[in-house]
Amino acid sequence: MNPKFVFWVPVAIQMTAGAFGIGLLWWWFGMLPALLTALAALGTMVLVQLHYLYQLSGWLDEPNSAKLPDGWGEWTPVFSRLYRLRRDDEKNQAELTEWLARFRQAMHLLPDGVVIMDDVLFLEWCNPAAEEHLGLRHDRDKGMRVTNLVRSPDFMDYLILGRYDQPLVLSFRGRKLITHIIPFENRRQILVTHDVTESERTDMMRRDFVANASHELRTPLTVVLGFLEIAAAEQLDETTRQAHLKLMMDQAYRMQHLIEDMLTLSRLESIDHPVRAERVDIGNLLDKVRRDALALSAGKHEIVLEMDGGDVMGSTDELYSAFGNLAANAVRYTPAGGTVSLKWEDTAAGVRFTVRDTGIGISPEHISRLTERFYRVDKSRSRETQGTGLGLAIVKHVLLRHNGTLSISSEPGKGSTFTVNLPKSLSAAPHPAPAPAAALSVN
Ligand code: ADP
Repeated sequence: MNPKFVFWVPVAIQMTAGAFGIGLLWWWFGMLPALLTALAALGTMVLVQLHYLYQLSGWLDEPNSAKLPDGWGEWTPVFSRLYRLRRDDEKNQAELTEWLARFRQAMHLLPDGVVIMDDVLFLEWCNPAAEEHLGLRHDRDKGMRVTNLVRSPDFMDYLILGRYDQPLVLSFRGRKLITHIIPFENRRQILVTHDVTESERTDMMRRDFVANASHELRTPLTVVLGFLEIAAAEQLDETTRQAHLKLMMDQAYRMQHLIEDMLTLSRLESIDHPVRAERVDIGNLLDKVRRDALALSAGKHEIVLEMDGGDVMGSTDELYSAFGNLAANAVRYTPAGGTVSLKWEDTAAGVRFTVRDTGIGISPEHISRLTERFYRVDKSRSRETQGTGLGLAIVKHVLLRHNGTLSISSEPGKGSTFTVNLPKSLSAAPHPAPAPAAALSVN
């Protein structure tokens, strides 16, 4: 029903009834009592209106603390409508606050940076990712011009040209950021930054790896092709033919070795291939490592194994590959007559495997790069000794998968020490019937 109608109909009925009552009084008792009654009724009505007006004004001053009265007469629907309005308003406020909190939380968790600026690029708000990407601080930089904060000629050019349909690839503070500007509302713009530093680095590593791997494979392949061309063009005597075959086989083995190492690395890097933790019989594993080293050395080195620690949990194959690589390197980079010592021991922090040699050693500037793929201190020496340049990269990945670390210390001309530390969490519980010899030394 029309609210005006709802309000005025009862008022009209009451006024008509009042006038009728006064008329009756006049008729029965005369003019004076009727006028006095009418005056008294009007006075009461004015007092009632003033009372409720006073209450309403008090409530409007302090809507949170003062209570709305129930009201009387026409005031009842007025107060109940005000009450409903207030309740709806409170509900909307609560919803808005909740939405704002959710929005803030989402913006805090967003990995992309978001900066809200006005039309003349003054900073209004930014999220933590934007603070990190662009070196901003919301509380400190609010109200400052973004171009004074992000000092980059590329960024300035981008803003001047205003071709915001294209993203800008911005190199800033050692990061690579894909930057977008999106105008919104009438007088605001959003700057969005997406950090691609890590993916760019991975892409570059992948490109380098493909280039290096192709180069490594091309060299032996060229040698094999060269010999095959000679064999196809000339009649070779038996001795030369045998010598060529031997050289070709060496190169083919080199390619095979390289491909095996590349496959091992790719398997180790694959996240779909977690470590299958099993009890690693370390005595057996290191005995195999020592025998391999002895075979590689062909009697030219003294190889010592010292065992003073228990088994670990991990992947036997992977640890065999890592420890085998370290022992093989020690043999390959130690001239005949040198010593290679392998030591397995329990420590307070976990277990330690040390490979010490008396070989050629490594200059300090190379040490931090040794675990990079295809990094070699001396390329020709590595090739001479059948190196693929991937051995220490494999060691690094195996240790990463076992939460272990590798440390290297070396002195050129004196020898090197490669130390593997595995955490205590990998130590396996002792066997119910432990082996009789706790420490064993083999030469
Ligand atoms: P490679 O197959 O060439 O040996 P690695 O990744 O196993 O590749 O080793 C990387 C480089 O580190 C080697 O080329 C070599 O220069 C150096 N290196 C590794 N182990 C030793 C060591 N025990 N003594 C001296 N140099 C070493």
